[in-house]
Amino acid sequence: MKWRKKNVSKIKKYNEKYREKNKEKQKLWSYAYYYLRDKMIKEIGKCQKCGSQNQLELHHIEYNNNPKSIRLLCRVCHQGEHLKNEHS
Ligand SMILES: [Zn+2]
Ligand SMILES: [Zn+2]
Repeated sequence: MKWRKKNVSKIKKYNEKYREKNKEKQKLWSYAYYYLRDKMIKEIGKCQKCGSQNQLELHHIEYNNNPKSIRLLCRVCHQGEHLKNEHS
């Protein structure tokens, strides 16, 4: 019954892999976020509003996949952008 045991563990492994994949799918956006943020930090390296290099985050002007609608902002400017948008 060695092969059976092997199969069971194979299925178990497959299920784990599948679950892992689903989890990754849910995380995909955050991965994309961090990947993009790192990329923009490497390319731009500072807040596109005030030039600060602290706590850089991505801000979406529009929620689409257009990179032109994403800004690299420091946390202060980012929060400022959201406050501005909420009040206008
Ligand atoms: Zn800033
Ligand atoms: Zn934002």
